[in-house]
Amino acid sequence: MSAHPSSSAPSSEPLALLQEVFGYPAFRGQQQAIVERVTEGGDALVLMPTGGGKSLCYQIPAIARHRRGQGVAVVVSPLIALMHDQVGALEEAGVHAAFLNSTLELAEAQRVEREMMSGRLVLLYAAPERITTPRFLAQLDSLHERGLLSLFAIDEAHCVSQWGHDFRAEYLGLSVLHERYPDVPRIALTATADEHTRADIVERLRLEDAELFVSSFDRPNIRYRVVEKDNPRAQLLRFVQDEHEGEAGVVYCQSRRKVEETAEFLTAQGILALPYHAGLDAAMRQRHQDRFLREEGLVMVATIAFGMGIDKPDVRFVAHLDLPKNIESYYQETGRAGRDGLAAEAWMAYGLADVVNQRRMIDESPATEDFKRVQRSKLEALLALAEAHDCRRVRLLDYFGEASRPCGNCDNCLNPPATWDATEAARKALSCIYRFHQNNRQRFGAGHLIDVLRGKRTDKVAQYGHDALSTWAIGADVSEAQWRGVLRQLVALGYVVAEGEYGTLALTDSARSVLKGEVRLLLRQPSEAPRRGKASRGTRVGVPRNGPADLEPDAQQRFAALKAWRSEVAREHNLPAYVVFNDATLIEMARENPDSLEALAGITGVGAKKLEAYGREILRVLES
Ligand code: ADP
Ligand code: ZN
Repeated sequence: MSAHPSSSAPSSEPLALLQEVFGYPAFRGQQQAIVERVTEGGDALVLMPTGGGKSLCYQIPAIARHRRGQGVAVVVSPLIALMHDQVGALEEAGVHAAFLNSTLELAEAQRVEREMMSGRLVLLYAAPERITTPRFLAQLDSLHERGLLSLFAIDEAHCVSQWGHDFRAEYLGLSVLHERYPDVPRIALTATADEHTRADIVERLRLEDAELFVSSFDRPNIRYRVVEKDNPRAQLLRFVQDEHEGEAGVVYCQSRRKVEETAEFLTAQGILALPYHAGLDAAMRQRHQDRFLREEGLVMVATIAFGMGIDKPDVRFVAHLDLPKNIESYYQETGRAGRDGLAAEAWMAYGLADVVNQRRMIDESPATEDFKRVQRSKLEALLALAEAHDCRRVRLLDYFGEASRPCGNCDNCLNPPATWDATEAARKALSCIYRFHQNNRQRFGAGHLIDVLRGKRTDKVAQYGHDALSTWAIGADVSEAQWRGVLRQLVALGYVVAEGEYGTLALTDSARSVLKGEVRLLLRQPSEAPRRGKASRGTRVGVPRNGPADLEPDAQQRFAALKAWRSEVAREHNLPAYVVFNDATLIEMARENPDSLEALAGITGVGAKKLEAYGREILRVLES
């Protein structure tokens, strides 16, 4: 099928395609520049955060070039599990796409190959190990000779780098694409931003001539929030029940056992929750993941084994019940919330035990001292973020080398915490640990230390005669929560180590600088009672009030009806609901309440094909 450009031929101009096929009025950020570069045959390396809109950066050039008679685009993706849904989404939008992977029956694979070889296909998705087989390369040769190989898109391009944690050896073979088809444009995409990974991608994929497109890594619709651990389960429950009822979310825990227990606990409280960790058998993991993608309002309780390549757009919250390893992990995990651009939350509960655990894991690991030093400094950066009393987003972006201004959409911006000077308190705590030590080298955990500092008469105090110490009750004016903050900080910064099963505390050499008053500690004042009730939404300038909760009652009803209709269609087509229309589109439909096909066509996310396929049904749903 060769294109014959004429006035009546469908447009191959990028913006027209965006509107016609995807129903979006405008490109976001650098999309337009990227799309133009690749459509015109140039190479590109795209660094864009999760949810930034990477897919369109190769899909639109693929459609444009196909309409100009340039054949098939090959998309390299490591995520076999996702190909089915990605292809489904394109077909829904009227774009002829297919995938080749090990899940296909022979006859189906042969059919796809025929479509590819004829040049009718617009996009073909395949895993890297298939692309580099002699058989597949011979097929590409044939397409190439006939001028029907339109472009290569290499998704998750950081997999080529050993620096990151997702290294896949098969990616190394992809340099063959440049060697064999130097005139075919290539676009590599990733959400990993660091310099080292970027350099590896350029070198190993031979992208020396690629134009580099680096987007801001800010995710403005995600609200960051860190709470002090008190009763973590109850805190989590309140967070989910009060603020995210019936919404999809991910809860990260460190251990398999905790995953199981937390999932059971939430289920017992009437919240639809499923566990996911590497200890479950593969079939069950797959089932749970499918349910999470396809059903609405499901909470996945998981270890970090879950998440890579989950591109469900309507995850409304990511909660951490345990501290992640470092800021990179935190950002990657929280980044799974709100890909659709609607308001979403990243919530984390953390306490002294987390600090102690993470430090211990580093100390006890078999790694080299150099490596441990790097890990410790990364942990310190994360703890500084957790303890921050200023804008969390500014700190996050700063960590990734991006300057920004206070965001108005994190807990600290919304409710600036009071701070207090904890320098003196820190010295008292250290002196008290020192007194314990003088007494037969005794060591105690944080609980007892705080009791002694506050002058609380317990059995243990009586047993050890600690009310006779010079440090007895010297910190009665500091609350227990404040003391916990002081100790967290002292452990985080390495002035104190917590060891053994009970986390008993001991001074390190560097504690001297605090005792001498050379270090000043300014800490956030712990908030007294945890807040209750719905958090105010969308107060940030520039962040639209855009969730379903912000709809008028009438519109809410329409939204519910549209969702019910969407579920049915999704089930019939065996696709996740968001592939039919995402929440943002349904919300706009519910709010605008269009009464004609023309008006419906003006809604973001309603392209020509979907208008034709669903337009009348939607108008009927809205009318009733
Ligand atoms: P990424 O792969 O970068 O994580 P996606 O390509 O999945 O992001 O896009 C995230 C969401 O944003 C998708 O729902 C997509 O349809 C939507 N999107 C992308 N570009 C635009 C745009 N220009 N206008 C409106 N929505 C967009
Ligand atoms: Zn902020």
